[in-house]
Amino acid sequence: MLKCLHMSYEADITIIGAGAVGLAIAAELARHRKDILVLEKNESFGRETSSRHSGVIHSGIYYPQGSLKAKLCVAGNRKLYRLCQRYGIGHDRLGKLIVAVSKDELPELESLYKKGVANGAESLRLISKREVNALEPYVSAIAALWSPDTGIIDSYALMQCYEVQAVSNGAQIAFKTKAVGTERVASGYKVAVEDESGTFSFASRVLINCAGLYSDKVAEMAGIDVDRAGYRLHYCKGEYFSVGGGMNRLVKRLIYPVPPESTGVGIHVTLDLDGRMKLGPDAYYVDEIDYTVDSRHKQTFYEAVKRFLPQLEPDDLEPDMAGIRPKLQAPGEDFRDFVIREESDKGLPGFINLIGIESPGITASPAIAEYVSGMVKELLG
Ligand SMILES: Cc1cc2nc3c(=O)[nH]c(=O)nc-3n(C[C@H](O)[C@H](O)[C@H](O)COP(=O)(O)OP(=O)(O)OC[C@H]3O[C@@H](n4cnc5c(N)ncnc54)[C@H](O)[C@@H]3O)c2cc1C
Repeated sequence: MLKCLHMSYEADITIIGAGAVGLAIAAELARHRKDILVLEKNESFGRETSSRHSGVIHSGIYYPQGSLKAKLCVAGNRKLYRLCQRYGIGHDRLGKLIVAVSKDELPELESLYKKGVANGAESLRLISKREVNALEPYVSAIAALWSPDTGIIDSYALMQCYEVQAVSNGAQIAFKTKAVGTERVASGYKVAVEDESGTFSFASRVLINCAGLYSDKVAEMAGIDVDRAGYRLHYCKGEYFSVGGGMNRLVKRLIYPVPPESTGVGIHVTLDLDGRMKLGPDAYYVDEIDYTVDSRHKQTFYEAVKRFLPQLEPDDLEPDMAGIRPKLQAPGEDFRDFVIREESDKGLPGFINLIGIESPGITASPAIAEYVSGMVKELLG
């Protein structure tokens, strides 16, 4: 608990949520500004979606041209590699193949290539079966999209780096402190928080909602009609199975299918920095936040990946972990972009919402931070 919150504390900027996005914004803003406070309901940072993902530094292939997802992913990819190099954050630019296993997948592969190039993912290349074999002898494919700028990152170390940057420049992070109410007042917002000692409030000129899976609730708390605004979140679960039996040595790169549907990029092969292999995530809508992995889904995972990694056997797969996507897109709906918005036009000047920050949120985090910093500059000068 921060003592300052009990006094007549006044923050310039309050950020709700210390996931990768909230921390990235805190780190960026603290470079030039004072009185920044981050509220986090858990006991430490990144305990939710920011530690339940594939850990991939995406290159910006999948998203419609001009969307925030496309722009912030491409910019974030470059920024993230620079950050990793500068601060020694564990990463590996190992590259990724999106593989077509049948002729009917070739048009989609080509369209992904065009989309990626249009988005600015410059190093993409369509490669032949022979080239796939040369890169990945155990992968069965008739062609692939080769993305050499896709990589993997130690996202815990990334968040630690953001935290150190924020705190060393004077930002404060209040853990075990939940934002429970906000009210518009003359100086900005009165923010009510709850911690172990009770409930109290303080004032903040700017309020930034980075509450991940709860960001629609926080927007609602500020008085926004989330259904009317199109901010209602739909939880979409993604499970992973780990792969044992020495199978992790079969591939050196990330291997993805041509995406089967619009809710995810398809069950793929991911590797972590210790060389462990996982399959996932699948994608299905759920009502509750529950991170258990349903072992009955093993066969689906096996069949999805067996198509391009034929040596895989069901016994190689073990339930591993799950994450939940905060999706704006309801089941059956089309693409929805990130919402990153200052809400003056809703009568809430100085209130910035970040809602629906699903993948590629880790990749985009440094670019999101810069984008939000621009909004804050407009507000505070
Ligand atoms: C299955 C899956 C795979 C993914 N794979 C990738 C990938 O490979 N690459 C990639 O770039 N992205 C990936 N993503 C997306 C990425 O994980 C997210 O975009 C990112 O972690 C979102 O970070 P965040 O800070 O917005 O949210 P979170 O990490 O959810 O952080 C929000 C924080 O807000 C806190 N909070 C909520 N309400 C309150 C409150 N009222 N008061 C105080 N604190 C509050 C929460 O406790 C939490 O710590 C994946 C996501 C999933 C689910």
